Amino acid sequence: MKPETLAVHAGADIDHETAAVSPPIHLSTTFEHPADVGELKGYLYGRYGNPTQDRLESALAALEGGALARVFASGMAAANALLQNLPAGGHVLMADDCYFSVRRLAQAWFPRWGLTLDLVDMTDAAAVRAAMRPNTCCLWVETPSNPLLKLSAVAPLAQIARAAGALLVVDATFATPLLLTPLALGADVVMHSTTKYLGGHSDVSGGALVFAREDALAQAVGEIRTLQGAIASPFASWLVLRGLRTLAPRLDWHQRNAMAVAHFLAAHPRVSAVHYPGLASHPQHALVGSEMRGPGGMLSFEVAGTRADAIAVAARLKLFVNATSLGGYESLVEHRQSSEGAGSPTPETLLRLSVGLEHADDLIADLDQALAG
Ligand SMILES: *Cc1c(COP(=O)(O)O)cnc(C)c1O
Repeated sequence: MKPETLAVHAGADIDHETAAVSPPIHLSTTFEHPADVGELKGYLYGRYGNPTQDRLESALAALEGGALARVFASGMAAANALLQNLPAGGHVLMADDCYFSVRRLAQAWFPRWGLTLDLVDMTDAAAVRAAMRPNTCCLWVETPSNPLLKLSAVAPLAQIARAAGALLVVDATFATPLLLTPLALGADVVMHSTTKYLGGHSDVSGGALVFAREDALAQAVGEIRTLQGAIASPFASWLVLRGLRTLAPRLDWHQRNAMAVAHFLAAHPRVSAVHYPGLASHPQHALVGSEMRGPGGMLSFEVAGTRADAIAVAARLKLFVNATSLGGYESLVEHRQSSEGAGSPTPETLLRLSVGLEHADDLIADLDQALAG
């Protein structure tokens, strides 16, 4: 089945009690069980699982072509559950421009977990090969990356990881399962912040891990979620599932608008660089159409001038809301270095856009007046 069809139908079995087409939300935190709990089948307690969470997990596993999915209270909870299950003494390679909170988590907590970290340019397979050590246990890749929209080729990284007996984890939040399916390219685990495109309406936090195999790691990640309590609530699961149902047409429109905005910016004299994988000038443009099925709705650009000039452009925008996050129906702009804070490697004149579902002409007119000001 095509991913667009799975996005609508996976995990959407008709409720067997009421025949409701839209899935019910069971808010109960406890479920009646046999007096002998040893014979338990089904649900027991809210922190262990709930039916709506199960629906979302089966939908995401189907879309990613994985053996099983685990969903969480946030993308960071998902990332943390995976990283905390890496073996003490291990060495981890992360993309040098991966999501800043993942990087901060690794830098601050790996020493306590007995892990070591190196940051590497994951778009450069030779650099990755050179950075491998005998105890490298995990490659953590993010593609497209945030905020420079670099694309890493998953298949060659999977080969490097497999040869070393290391895990390949891909944070594919910007791509969604409709544009990239890393497990089919050899990755072991896919991560998503479902807060973004999957939720799609800037009104729910969530995260997901999808596993290629139902193995000891998948088991341990499920167990640590139960013990640490970072589950997806029934309502959060329901909102992400509802967002998923319209993901394909939303993404189509996001991409169309992003392409129009990218072309406009690329031709603008007050713009010194545009980072968008849909442009032929993008260094990894060839991966769109080979590994990726589209360039997505995120882009960033650099304002010709100073940090203050870039912030002034953002401030003059009227339709693009100055806010962090991405993947919702509304267009957002962010001076990314300010939001990443001290130590950010992001260029000081860079603005990141989450291109929303408005009409492209209105978005371009807004950018035009902001850049002219
Ligand atoms: C937002 C984001 C995360 C973190 O997810 P939360 O839901 O905010 O915890 C991780 N990776 C990427 C690429 C993101 O955009």
